[in-house]
Parts: sequence; structure tokens; C-alpha cells
Amino acid sequence: MKKMDIIHIAAEMAPIAKVGGLGDVLLGLGRALTEKHKHVEIILPKYDCLDYDQISPLEVVMHDLSSYFENAPVHNTIWRGHIDQIQLTFIETHDPYGFFERGTVYGCPDDIERFTYFSKVALEYLVKSNKNPEIIHIHDWHTSLTPILLKEMFSALSKAKTVLTIHNLAYQGISNRESLEKIGLSKDILDRYNLHDPQQTHLYNLMRGGIENADAVTTVSPNYAKEVLTPMGGGNLYRCLNDNSHKFQGILNGIDCEYWNPKEDPFLPFHYNHHDIHASSHPFIPPKGKIQKHLRHLLSLAEEECPIVSCITRLVPQKGPELIKQGILKTLEKGGQFILLGSTSDPQTHEVFYNLKRKFAESRQVHIELTYNEPLSHLVYAASDLFLVPSIFEPCGLSQLIAMHYGTVPLVRRTGGLADTVFEGFNGFVFEEPTAEGIQSAMDRAFVMWKEDSSQWRKLIEAGMKMDVSWKKPMEEYLHLYKHLQTHKIHV
Ligand code: ADP
Repeated sequence: MKKMDIIHIAAEMAPIAKVGGLGDVLLGLGRALTEKHKHVEIILPKYDCLDYDQISPLEVVMHDLSSYFENAPVHNTIWRGHIDQIQLTFIETHDPYGFFERGTVYGCPDDIERFTYFSKVALEYLVKSNKNPEIIHIHDWHTSLTPILLKEMFSALSKAKTVLTIHNLAYQGISNRESLEKIGLSKDILDRYNLHDPQQTHLYNLMRGGIENADAVTTVSPNYAKEVLTPMGGGNLYRCLNDNSHKFQGILNGIDCEYWNPKEDPFLPFHYNHHDIHASSHPFIPPKGKIQKHLRHLLSLAEEECPIVSCITRLVPQKGPELIKQGILKTLEKGGQFILLGSTSDPQTHEVFYNLKRKFAESRQVHIELTYNEPLSHLVYAASDLFLVPSIFEPCGLSQLIAMHYGTVPLVRRTGGLADTVFEGFNGFVFEEPTAEGIQSAMDRAFVMWKEDSSQWRKLIEAGMKMDVSWKKPMEEYLHLYKHLQTHKIHV
């Protein structure tokens, strides 16, 4: 029997164009599907800021794919490349605005135009290259107009069933009519597809359009799937999600265990895995102890017998910046060391943490790095003892999974996918309320255990490292969904 052709269309992919977990998912799921299934292709914008060194070999497969924007013709060049065996297709748009020549993935005032145009050209490319995929898998609002585009403009692709994965419901792609008309969607068409924002009804909501019109909708953990069906968790899209709950499910993310592999990670000076847990006292994994020494030296932290607590995150309200600050202060009060690697584009949040960095400029117990730094993140995951994820909400969360895989014990708030993966007393520490008291009491428990019950601490490390956090099971669940969509009649 012929294998299904599976196409992913997305805005991010690690490690070449990564902003957060969405990029990690495309790499991990893309690799797992490619290894098992083979017929997989990922379509991405050809950003000027792609990490070109990691793509090989990049070649043009279509010189002149014509499309239109604002009623004017636009040419596009289609490129093919690979990361390991994963087949990637890049769309280079020769539009007058330089959509993907901004030195950034997101954050432009015309993001709606950039990603809706990209979504349309991705489908144009599939038609022109005579591809007729069984599955088109789209991700977040950036590509969630795809099911509507398919119905209205691309009948040649009518065989394709669409899967939308919601990585974060907080970003919905709210648009005015004019922006969507630029790719050729008239008001009549737009009004046919339940695309209006439920609250600001004169505007359009691309995430809603995806949820209403895709053949299946997934989110990235079972618990987040439950949360967004409540008014509190689903917010303005709570009703829309409930109306579509028959085609909605949570599939827990994995991590790419080739990329995140402490046994071979090229960013680490020493290597290990769970077979190396054998010392009877801290740091339990001798190479991890050597990495701690290396990182303390690199960041000018004092060489002391104390735990390293860390946090690697985008500094946005979702991630609980106030709780992260509490975590830093509590760590110092308890005699630990703290490393924060946080990226933010919000000037106010930047200022709060920049002030904190200045306050501790002379301290050899704290290091605050306000940037995105992939190599440093690997060292911090490997060198830390305790890893904080005090999120207000968290669709899945990958950082706690990476931390556990690197033998670092997570301390998380019980929400979303964190509640599906971290369990107090088994592999980490969990607190309920997003308050200073909540995080402080969990940190008290962690410090007491680190100091007084090292055999229990060792068990937490071992349980975390032995957990199957790979893409094997989630990939099978996605394949099962794809096959189900092929064999069952769908009522959208
Ligand atoms: P989100 O997608 O909401 O940002 P996730 O936990 O799902 O959160 O994924 C975050 C990913 O981004 C992880 O791979 C994490 O290591 C990485 N990351 C976040 N902030 C930084 C940073 N400042 N520097 C390096 N990597 C970061």
C-alpha cells in the first residue's frame, strides 16, 4: 500500500529558525516521522536569519513560482534542503516588502500579511509540483488559514486532510479585513468560515479559523487540552473549542533525543547518561560535576558545595516572571547559586531583570543573561541541580523535559503539560498556587532534600533521566490520527 504523504507547514524549526518550543516540535516530530514513515516534508519561510550552516545542501527546486499579493504578481523561489534526513522546503518570496528579510522570525507589524502570504504560496508550491498529500499538518495561527485556503483556492489538493496543532492559545493572529484581502480572500469568503474573533467581532481570528475548519485539532498535552475547554483556560476561544471538541485532543510533546543528548551533545565539554549515575553523594553523575565546575568558571560563579538552580525561558507574563524573581531571591537566602537565561522583547520586563542583574553585578552567586543563547542553554541544563518552571500557564513545556533528560530536577507549577510530566516525590517538585508562598515552599522542600536526603535526590534524578521523553510515542499517536483521518468520514 502506498504510504501517506505528510506535509508540515510552519513558521519555526529548530535549530535553524527557533524562537521557542514550536521550533523544537518541528525538529523532533519531523525527525521521528521521517525515520519511521519517510514521506514527510516540512515547508518553512526562507528567513534571512536562518542558520544556513546547519542545512545541507540547499538547492533551488523551482525558480519562478508566481503568486499575487495586493492584486499584483509576486515571484517566489522554492529551495530544498535537509537537516540530517529531514526534508525541508523553503519559500523565498520576492515581495516588495521583504517579508522574510527582517532578521527575525516574528515581531513585525505585518506578521499577519507575512504568514498568510507564506501559507498561500506553500499551497501553490504543492499544486505546481504535482504533490497531492494526504495530510497537511499546520501549526499555530501562522498557518491556520490553510484549511480555508484549501477549500476556496486549491481544489487540486482536495485529498488533503488538515491537522492543526495549537502550541499556544495565547497567540491567535487577530487581523483586520484589509490584511486578509491582500492575499485574495474577499469579505464574502471570509464571512463564510467562522473566522470572526468572538470578542472583537469586527476583526478576524486566524486561530479560530483553523480550529473551526481543520479536520482535526490537537494541542500539546492532555492536561492543557482539558484546561482550554474551561472558560478560564480557553478564554475567548473556550466556546469555539467546546463546539469542536469532537475533533480535539491533546498529544504530549516529546523532545528530540538526538539533539538533546547529554551523551553526545557537542555543546558539552563532558558527556553522560543515566548509566553514569553511580556516585553516592552530590553530584551523583561525575561528568555532570565537571560541567558544573566548567560553567562556574565560565560565568564567574564561586566554586562552592551548593546547588545550582536555573531557569531558561522567554521572559513573558506566561512564564511567571515575578515567580522567577522570587526563585532567585529564595535561592540566595538558602545559600544556592542561580543562573537565569532569559530572552525578552518587552522593554519593561527587560528593565526589571536588567535592574536585578545590575543589583547582583558583584555577586558570585547569581548570573543573569538576558539573551537567547542556544549553546549556553545546553551547558546550563547539564550543570544545574534544580530547574524552575513556575509558569502561569504552560501548553506543554519542553524545558522541564530537557532538564530531566540532563539529570536536573524540575520544580514546576502544576499547570498544563507540567502537570502531565512532573510529579512531586517521583521526579521533581510541584507547587499549586502562582504565589511567592507557593514557589518558596516548594523551594524549601527542594533545598531540605538536597542537603539532608541525598539518596532521595538521587532517585529523583534517576526517575527523570529514565523517563521516555522521546518522540516515539507521540509520533505514533500523530500517525494514528493521520491514518484515522484517511479512513473516517470527517464532519467539520
Ligand atoms: P515556549 O515554547 O513557550 O517558549 P517551551 O518550554 O515549550 O516554551 O520551549 C522553550 C524552548 O526554548 C526550549 O528548548 C528552551 O531551551 C528554549 N529557550 C527558551 N528561552 C531560551 C533562551 N533565552 N536561550 C536559549 N534557549 C531558550
